[in-house]
Amino acid sequence: MASLTEFDFIDRFLKQQAAQGQPLLAHPASLGIGDDAALIPPLAAGEQLAVTSDMLVEGRHYWPHVDPAALGHKVLAVNLSDLAAMGAQPLAFTLSAGLSRIDDAWLTAFLQGLFALARQHQCALVGGDTVGIPSGAPAVFSVTAWGSVPVGQALRRSGLQGGDDVWVSGHLGDPAYAVSERRCDLKLDRPEPRLQLGVALRGVAHAAIDVSDGLHADLGHMLRASCTASGQSLCAEMDSSTLPLGPVLQKAVADQRLTAKEALLFAGNGGDDYELCFGAAAHHRETIEKLAHDLGCELTRIGKITEATQAATCAQVVWRDRKGEVDTAWSARLERRSYDHFKGS
Ligand code: ADP
Ligand code: MG
Repeated sequence: MASLTEFDFIDRFLKQQAAQGQPLLAHPASLGIGDDAALIPPLAAGEQLAVTSDMLVEGRHYWPHVDPAALGHKVLAVNLSDLAAMGAQPLAFTLSAGLSRIDDAWLTAFLQGLFALARQHQCALVGGDTVGIPSGAPAVFSVTAWGSVPVGQALRRSGLQGGDDVWVSGHLGDPAYAVSERRCDLKLDRPEPRLQLGVALRGVAHAAIDVSDGLHADLGHMLRASCTASGQSLCAEMDSSTLPLGPVLQKAVADQRLTAKEALLFAGNGGDDYELCFGAAAHHRETIEKLAHDLGCELTRIGKITEATQAATCAQVVWRDRKGEVDTAWSARLERRSYDHFKGS
């Protein structure tokens, strides 16, 4: 297997490909890979930067034998999903890699997946770092991405208000179901960041988050941020029967390989969905339904934000079943499944 040096890698693999299809790097004030730092041209008037960073570690976030093109796609996609959740438009990103060796064929495929997504969203690779790590140590990839958003219009987690509808895009649960069966899944391997939706939700949604850790956990983050910011006692009243199950889960239920409740657990807190969950005032329902139609992206109303009447439900995500009854056992199971890197499982 061919083995390249770090400098071959940067010159032959990164520099030329990074500039292709990227208007940002054609700007006279910009400078991409090759110097001590990249230069980004001035933002359009009235715009501010949104910055995010996400890391994927071999054995923790992906399996060692994953398709490298899918991994290249995913390492950028998870960052673009964060930009989408802020309502930001991608501009540029850096890629840092810790690798125990440089494998020509593997990296070619990895970069093909990465650059295909970068071109699709006109997000330019402007720099990064490449370091050698001890042989046998897990590889790590870290991306930092920048996007632009009109000043004051970013979708924060902290804006939920009493009376808001809670919406989610697309379908939930198929990636987590695939992980549980150690199977490949198109959505698990190649999540599509909801960038158009994020931009369209500016001025419509009060708050948004991308569903990466699982709906229950991520909605909880948004709720707590909103309670802290406003000093209000809010809670989310969710209807588990409205959760949009992924097509693979739907089929598993139809074939009786899973019960409806098991399938709902994957959707309620599976993780790796990279859909947007957002809150918006009820008077925006028609606008949101039209958006779903125009963008060809399903948007489902799955609950409501209410004023918490008891201290016990403050900042809690409360699930009701089809009959409208509070399902405490279900909520407890979702809570237990919530992912925390340092909880030790
Ligand atoms: P320095 O020693 O100044 O950090 P490097 O030799 O690490 O410079 O990098 C040289 C150039 O290559 C820099 O412009 C850097 O941003 C870029 N670069 C290095 N690794 C990567 C990578 N993994 N992805 C994108 N650009 C990279
Ligand atoms: Mg360096």
